[in-house]
Amino acid sequence: MDSLNIHHHFPIFKEHSDMIYFDNAATTQKPKYVIDAISNFYTHHNFNVHRSVYTDAGETTEMFEQSRKNIASFINASIAKEIVFSAGTTDSINLIANGYYAKHIKSGDEIVVSIAEHHSNLLPWQKIAKNNGATLKFIPLNEDANLDLNSASQIISDKTKLVAVTAVSNVLGNINPIDQLTTLAHKHGAEILVDGAQAAPELPIDVQKTPIDWLAFSGHKMMAPTGIGVLYGKQYLLENMDSPRVGGEMIESVSTTEYKVKDIPYRLEAGTPNIEGVIGLDAAISYLKELKMTNVQEQCEKLGQYLYDQLNALDGVSVYGPTKRQTGIVSFNVDNIHPHDAATFLDSKNIDVRAGQHCAEPLTHKLGVNATLRASLYIYNTIEECNRLVDCVNEMKEFFNGSK
Ligand code: PMP
Repeated sequence: MDSLNIHHHFPIFKEHSDMIYFDNAATTQKPKYVIDAISNFYTHHNFNVHRSVYTDAGETTEMFEQSRKNIASFINASIAKEIVFSAGTTDSINLIANGYYAKHIKSGDEIVVSIAEHHSNLLPWQKIAKNNGATLKFIPLNEDANLDLNSASQIISDKTKLVAVTAVSNVLGNINPIDQLTTLAHKHGAEILVDGAQAAPELPIDVQKTPIDWLAFSGHKMMAPTGIGVLYGKQYLLENMDSPRVGGEMIESVSTTEYKVKDIPYRLEAGTPNIEGVIGLDAAISYLKELKMTNVQEQCEKLGQYLYDQLNALDGVSVYGPTKRQTGIVSFNVDNIHPHDAATFLDSKNIDVRAGQHCAEPLTHKLGVNATLRASLYIYNTIEECNRLVDCVNEMKEFFNGSK
């Protein structure tokens, strides 16, 4: 399978016909199917949910709650109420940190993260550790730039209350051993939170097969709109979570001095929800299901490996992360060219890549650099586009360094 042949499903590629879009870890493009679902919602079903008795609003509520069920089934959650809608991964992790761990982490407890975390899965834990007198511990990477499981088994102990790790690094593209980390965390009575922002778009997820406790992901990285995300939590954890935000929609009754909240998930979703986002995420998920997540994973891995091998074969190019690629993310640098200059050069060739620290500053420093270029590929990208990037890297070397 050279390509999934779906480029034409994405209206933006018609308008930007010469563009090579390799910044999918920042956000993905949206297929017409998702755009139509949102347009259909506003054209035919624009009513608020969960509050009105009239039929139109009831139908929208049904669509909204059906989306929750579909999203639960996408990650194989056992029950739809384990799905809480949020604004994205950052929001989900903050909700978990402030709504649950702010009251469950005590002085002397330990929170374990990896050195490769996105700031969204680092700063909330730095904050909780500081406020509650806990210690934040870091799992290092091994020589292959994969998470070091041996160190993890020494670091995770009976003092650990939470292991919070990403399933896929948004910089190195490696898949972390979530199965083993889950077993380790549970052996010590700790919970495991998985940052699924980069995994949900690329890999099948089954929260019962690998019984993680928490999962966070963002719609916009998997072809859904921005501003919608998912917080998955095991039912008993959500039931023990404070309502981090209070207000309309989440209450049973209110007096001048008190309020009684609804059951989960509603008491964790105060205010009018992002209905358009939920409908769009549901559409993106059915589009992904149609393609089959195993094909999506295979395609991302194949593109990532191809681009890695091509770039790695070039003189004066350093490619970061494991040699065996599992996803579509390839971070690299070209000798003597600052990543921002390189990205500007590639922009002049109509290739969109990101340059910087990719919200993972401690990892960038561990790699011994100040910044990297990152080409993040997704299912609509092709081998031909990879070849064009490699040609342009060669041209760039000649332009800046005078040699190919
Ligand atoms: N974690 C990872 C691994 C990510 O790639 C991202 C997005 N780049 C985030 C967290 C944060 O996601 P969002 O900005 O959608 O909240």
